Amino acid sequence: MRIAVDLDQVLADILTPLLKYYNKKYDKNEFLDDTKPHNITDAWKLTKQEILVVLEDFFTNSEEFRAVQVMPGALTAIKSLKNNKHELFVLTSRPKLVMKESVKWVEKHFGDNTFKDMFFTNDDFDFSNNNKSKYLKEHNIKLLIDDNPSYCLEAAQAGFQTILLNNNGKHQLVRKKQENPKILLAKNWSEVLVHIEKLNK
Ligand SMILES: [Mg+2]
Repeated sequence: MRIAVDLDQVLADILTPLLKYYNKKYDKNEFLDDTKPHNITDAWKLTKQEILVVLEDFFTNSEEFRAVQVMPGALTAIKSLKNNKHELFVLTSRPKLVMKESVKWVEKHFGDNTFKDMFFTNDDFDFSNNNKSKYLKEHNIKLLIDDNPSYCLEAAQAGFQTILLNNNGKHQLVRKKQENPKILLAKNWSEVLVHIEKLNK
């Protein structure tokens, strides 16, 4: 099966270094927990413009961004999907500004030939663009694995199968019960693999 995998909080744990950077730079003490909204920047009570400044500095100047780690379970799961002859793609809304570094990071941690291609949906810092289905359609991809409920919903409504990698079990999508048969929930990578095995039958 042709599968698109999101990058942040699916392959790469970007939230831990982002919070570390934010706390250091702004002298705050924010932490991750289940009560936080999906997007941690929502909890910072900054304007959209201020958030973009933080993100741009984090991506371009911070040592924290250079130290991003792989999400738990991702490496084994991706290897297993690759061994089972699935065709894998990275589909991320990271800004194109960090495309080169992001590609390098993926190749360093997952190997040069693991992903057939990597797509960056975000030309600049416009995070309001949540159209991942366009890429799924263009590249004949059957499944999207993403931690962002809005991306899953957008793709599901366009008819694509999705797996919401729901790390804390309290995503907005679940709370609002916007359930859609095209969105499967998984708490971790092992559950993602179980879903894929069933979908593949
Ligand atoms: Mg993500």
